[in-house]
Amino acid sequence: MKVRSGFVSNSSSSSFVISRNEYPTVFELAFDMIGARDWPTDDELREKCTDLATFITEDVGVFFRTCNYDTYIFKHNDEYFVTTCNNHDWSFLPYSRQGGGNDYGDDDEAVRARAGKTFVHLDAGTAGRYPYDYAGYCSKCWSNYWLNADGEYFCPGCGELK
Ligand SMILES: [Zn+2]
Repeated sequence: MKVRSGFVSNSSSSSFVISRNEYPTVFELAFDMIGARDWPTDDELREKCTDLATFITEDVGVFFRTCNYDTYIFKHNDEYFVTTCNNHDWSFLPYSRQGGGNDYGDDDEAVRARAGKTFVHLDAGTAGRYPYDYAGYCSKCWSNYWLNADGEYFCPGCGELK
């Protein structure tokens, strides 16, 4: 799978599956994961996450920045699927199984299920669908391109069209 690289060596993607019994919504799960980044912006992003959770009623996934590979959390049937980066310690999470092991590929069930799902970008407040085909990333902010409501590729970080 083509993804951006070059920030950190020995960095891998990671995916796992969590029962929906563990968290009422994707926002609570995101809240816990954001704090585990141990970044100076964690508190600020947690506030945004809590605020967004109060008025988003649609069934959306959440997105936020993590080291090298960003984090996507979304509902899939009676589970939460998470795709993220293994440079953070996620061992505290009550995950039930790996999505497909480290360095996800086409066999990763979480990565496959992510395509076409709608996500809210917690930092930028934008929303869009993860594309079915890899569309590259924005050269200004390294965000992977998503699809807007008109089916156009756009950068969820800057809001600009590809
Ligand atoms: Zn951008």
